[in-house]
Amino acid sequence: ASGYTLMRDPRYNKGLAFTDKERDAHYLTGLLPPVILSQDVQEKKMMHNLRQYTVPLHRYVALMDLQERNERLFYKLLIDNVEELLPVVYTPTVGEACQKYGSIFRRPQGLYISLKEKGKILEVLKNWPQRGIQVIVVTDGERILGLGDLGCQCLPITIDVGTNNEKLLNDEFYIGLKQKRATGEEYAEFLHEFMCAVKQNYGEKVLVQFEDFANHHAFELLSKYCSSHLVFNDDIQGTASVVLAGLIAAQKVLGKSLSDHTFLFLGAGEAGTGIAELIALKISKETGTPIDETRKKIWLVDSKGLIVSSRKESLQHFKQPWAHDHEPVKELLGAVNAIKPTVLIGTSGVGKTFTKEVVEAMATFNEKPLILALSNPTSQAECTAEEAYTWTEGRAIFASGSPFAPVEYEGKTFFPGQANNCYIFPGLGLGLIMSGAIRVRDDMLLAASEALASQVTEENFADGLIYPPFTNIRKISANIAASVGAKTYELGLASNLPRPKDLVKMAESCMYSPVYRNFR
Ligand code: NAP
Ligand code: MN
Repeated sequence: ASGYTLMRDPRYNKGLAFTDKERDAHYLTGLLPPVILSQDVQEKKMMHNLRQYTVPLHRYVALMDLQERNERLFYKLLIDNVEELLPVVYTPTVGEACQKYGSIFRRPQGLYISLKEKGKILEVLKNWPQRGIQVIVVTDGERILGLGDLGCQCLPITIDVGTNNEKLLNDEFYIGLKQKRATGEEYAEFLHEFMCAVKQNYGEKVLVQFEDFANHHAFELLSKYCSSHLVFNDDIQGTASVVLAGLIAAQKVLGKSLSDHTFLFLGAGEAGTGIAELIALKISKETGTPIDETRKKIWLVDSKGLIVSSRKESLQHFKQPWAHDHEPVKELLGAVNAIKPTVLIGTSGVGKTFTKEVVEAMATFNEKPLILALSNPTSQAECTAEEAYTWTEGRAIFASGSPFAPVEYEGKTFFPGQANNCYIFPGLGLGLIMSGAIRVRDDMLLAASEALASQVTEENFADGLIYPPFTNIRKISANIAASVGAKTYELGLASNLPRPKDLVKMAESCMYSPVYRNFR
């Protein structure tokens, strides 16, 4: 390719890092100022520039600009500065970016498939320039983070079936279909066309990750396609796996096994019931107790109060396994006092719901209450890290979906962990892809949880952490991928044969490298 084309293509562009030889060989001389910078210096400069912005959204936009200009430098920045940049490209800033996506929209990223394309989805897929796609992350935007219906937004494949968000419907800058969401048959048929087209275009082994669908579709899509496609739902299964990992790790700090705990959830949707089910499964496997029994130590509260058997008739099917015998309780505080949980988990999408009274109650009957405020972004967190530590006089073990800074309390520093499925989905996806998995099974999620938990060090525990620092996410992901891959082979669901000896090495060798190529 001519140098000019190289320079304009974000996949190849190196900016001022094109060497003299490359500039010579590809007719770039004169098209760039004379200085030659190394990728490291470019990185240093970009980080310096980013830190000048005081408004988080400006950092987000600057990073997206970089991605559109120079992809490898963008990923190098992310890899080398992941703790600093994750809150920008992921929760919480990405939440604001999603809410204002129409306004900050510059260039499309990924594919947009709207109802207008009904009957032609396969053709739309074929418009995507790259052929060898292995993973698709798809959303219909109905439940983005804890922010609700954001319509047609910024993930690699957005299925646009309309939006019920009045604000977006009336926003002149909105980029999606301006109509109410399709539902029922029409919705199901459209998604079915999509799922069939994906398989037809990319083959049997393409992984489809469902992301941020509303629960009235999420459970159904998962159960409908889990036996015919390689699919997983990140909010149900990825979240379950990451939370279980934290609980497994916490056993060391608490000196209790999983089966000794009583769990209470605020929020009984995808995340809540997904986590609950995986915990019940894990305890069942560990103790040989039937899952119907192990579920009984897990309680959930939804918007109507504690889920109890007298409500069973009117409950959505995914809540029914959790309808235990108990008198009705309306409020969370009442439920906490009645159930006396050792672990309190927030998956409601509603901020500030772990009130002082609730957290204090947890601290009265637990030496070390385990409190997870999983809702995203930060504004929706059930409580802050500072609240969790101060209201329990520094006794809580706390982690949250969105990051919180370390907290000083009575001369001691507490490090809140980030219980977020972003620990799981990269490694899980890689493990599935590299083994050529044909289906996803719960045992693979359990393997991912064990792999993540095993990477928490004594030093991390001493800091109060139940997750390893995110800085090491590449190493963490390689280990998760290896464990998931091993489980896939063990279950006979792997198609990349023979099984490689060293699965960690295999995982590492499959990972993206942001190092520039040489153009000679
Ligand atoms: P969902 O399926 O819509 O479930 C939300 C649940 O919360 C529902 O059961 C709902 O009750 C309940 N709820 C809502 N308001 C409530 C209130 N005021 N009091 C008590 N319960 C209330 O959503 P989801 O997919 O589970 O996600 C929920 C939250 O978890 C979101 O904020 C999301 O960002 C977060 N999340 C975090 C992670 C992570 O990795 N940290 C992963 C996935 C999701 P009804 O059923 O009665 O309506
Ligand atoms: Mn999600």
